[in-house]
Amino acid sequence: MILVTNNEGTLGVPTAARMLAAGAAALDAIEAGIRPIEADPSVRTVGRGGWPNILGEVELDACLMDGSTLRTGAVGALKGYLHPVSVAREIMRRLPHELLVGDGAARFAAEIGAETADNLIADSKRAWQAWYDAELTPAQKAAWPAVDLAPLCRHAIDPEIGRDTTVFLAQDATGAVCSGTSTSGWGWKYPGRLGDSPIIGAGSYADTRYGAAACTGAGEMTIRCGTARAIVLYMKKGASVADAVFEAADDMRALRGGLISRVTIHAIDTRGNHKVVAVNGDGSNVYWLWDGAGEPRRCPADVVRIAEEVGRVSSVARYTAAG
Ligand code: ASP
Repeated sequence: MILVTNNEGTLGVPTAARMLAAGAAALDAIEAGIRPIEADPSVRTVGRGGWPNILGEVELDACLMDGSTLRTGAVGALKGYLHPVSVAREIMRRLPHELLVGDGAARFAAEIGAETADNLIADSKRAWQAWYDAELTPAQKAAWPAVDLAPLCRHAIDPEIGRDTTVFLAQDATGAVCSGTSTSGWGWKYPGRLGDSPIIGAGSYADTRYGAAACTGAGEMTIRCGTARAIVLYMKKGASVADAVFEAADDMRALRGGLISRVTIHAIDTRGNHKVVAVNGDGSNVYWLWDGAGEPRRCPADVVRIAEEVGRVSSVARYTAAG
């Protein structure tokens, strides 16, 4: 058995590890691990309390993958619900589909009686309003929200805004390997923007025959590289989990143009091994490991540099920091 989650998983790792130790299925342990993170407004990058998009609305992404059936459930740009990961689970259970987004995802969440929530907490509202007040021209304010949002998207990639995702990878006592993610995506993103977290194969992938992988950071990069799926395929072709992760990091060197920023890659195999590597990290990335016995422990991620992180481009951090 093994459980790997990132630092954002801190609130959920004890529950998930305890459940796995008691014989729970990996998918159940992962969902139960993610839910308290989604509900806690002190986690500003997942669920309630996440930073809003450029219109000041919180749009949430999440997914689960069952590596034994290769079934997945994912939601993107879901507004108004507390537990996107559980909506994703119900998509897997009840629909012949794998991914729902936007209005359709919200409609489905209502249909199944999912718990609603006002995910825009007061501090996020304050930060967004302060940004709006200071950064928009009088003409833009007069026309709002009927303005061109594309030029404002530069604010979404300000490297000083705190942003993250929670990712969980687990192998249970039966050997089943599963993955899960949940995030509010990038603050000040264009409405409807999906990162990698709900995109199976980019932000996560699990296959009970080989292992699983999940990513945090600039989803635009892992979508382009198909990172999580690539790692599992490298393992299928015989690579160790460490070599598979380094190979996937190396794939990112081919990226030209678009957003080149930071990505952290987490992976496990089926034999109790794991690897976590922060691409363009600054050495501060940590993650949680539970290796089937004792308590989960915090470990430092390795670092690989592939390019300079995008330069400082805007001033959103000025508004998000004060809260
Ligand atoms: N990967 C997430 C996304 O692109 C955000 C993050 O982990 O920083 O939406």
